[in-house]
Amino acid sequence: MTISIIGAGPGGLTCARILQRHGIPVTVYDRDPHPQVRDQGGTLDLHAYDGQLALREAGLLDEFLALCRPEGQEMRKLDSAGELLEHHVPAEGELFKPEIDRGLLRGLLLDSLEPGTVQWGRSLDRVDGSRLFFADGTTVETDLVIGADGAWSRVRPAVSSAVPQYAGITFLEAWFDDVENAHPEIAALVGQGSAMAADGDRCLFAQRNGGDHIRVYIVQRLPADWAGSLGTQEIRARLLDAFSGWAPRMVRMITDNDGPYVDRPLFVLPVPHTWEHSPTVTLLGDAAHLMPPLGVGVNLAMLDASELALALAGSASLGEAVAAYEKTMLPRSVEMARRLENGAEGLLDVD
Ligand SMILES: Cc1cc2nc3c(=O)[nH]c(=O)nc-3n(C[C@H](O)[C@H](O)[C@H](O)COP(=O)(O)OP(=O)(O)OC[C@H]3O[C@@H](n4cnc5c(N)ncnc54)[C@H](O)[C@@H]3O)c2cc1C
Repeated sequence: MTISIIGAGPGGLTCARILQRHGIPVTVYDRDPHPQVRDQGGTLDLHAYDGQLALREAGLLDEFLALCRPEGQEMRKLDSAGELLEHHVPAEGELFKPEIDRGLLRGLLLDSLEPGTVQWGRSLDRVDGSRLFFADGTTVETDLVIGADGAWSRVRPAVSSAVPQYAGITFLEAWFDDVENAHPEIAALVGQGSAMAADGDRCLFAQRNGGDHIRVYIVQRLPADWAGSLGTQEIRARLLDAFSGWAPRMVRMITDNDGPYVDRPLFVLPVPHTWEHSPTVTLLGDAAHLMPPLGVGVNLAMLDASELALALAGSASLGEAVAAYEKTMLPRSVEMARRLENGAEGLLDVD
């Protein structure tokens, strides 16, 4: 029996780890040439009722709790003048949804796997029957392929014709290094967790990351290709125009960033997204249910991964395990996708 996971993101790696804990061999293929090739992005909150449950099944909950930032649960709601409207300060010992940097989480999962589990530089092109076709021209025969390859999954077309659609909202990412020394006013506004301000048409969502680092997502209702070939100065000029009514201390979050802006238009899968059961192909995480980034994506990916791995460990056949997994996962993700369907637009809402 060969099990192949496409994608070494949080979902794919969690699935591989739990399979190995149950003595089931697995290979993970990822298109990145090596694990350090790109910045893994910002911070993730792992919930006690899903992401942390998966880490418990992976035997990594204690390590996670030693690495995470409970103080990152602080949440501030500001107005466009930077005045505090609402403030959640985590209680002593609160571990409901502590934060961890994406890179740290990936490292924790990778280090837990048997050496050689992940094959880097293996970009999947397509799945045809039981054969995986990689972009480098190689092929692999497998009994089960698990698509954990994110938003633009190359496994998904084997079971579904759905393609992600633009949600009408774009995130422009700006980052700030050495914030206590270099950007003290922004550090004071954001605190140890997240700070958010919206005026109905635009929103700033700032998050403290580990290592004295802050990421700000500038949320706007714009065409997906609005940034096109614009350079940093041209983007900044447009932002200054769009945020002209905001207080100077808030505007610093869009002008004083270190490095270029990163454009992240939001795509989502149609709701509901389901597929006919196949005993040899299944999906998890964003490949199965891409939703707006409202704090559930990674948690669902890891919960899917845990449930699929446990089903594979406890079932008589691959097909039976996949059917049992999808019976729970599909209704859960459809329900969540319905709840978050207009969530990207909701980020701009003053309330
Ligand atoms: C700006 C932003 C902020 C977010 N913040 C949060 C948050 O705070 N909390 C939260 O829960 N979620 C958040 N999310 C959502 C979260 O990032 C995703 O839901 C989560 O990463 C999904 O995990 P995954 O393992 O399914 O896929 P991914 O993390 O996308 O991993 C997919 C992996 O597959 C690999 N891959 C892709 N294509 C191929 C291919 N063809 N062949 C081989 N390998 C391939 C990639 O290299 C990658 O390693 C955020 C998303 C965005 C965009």
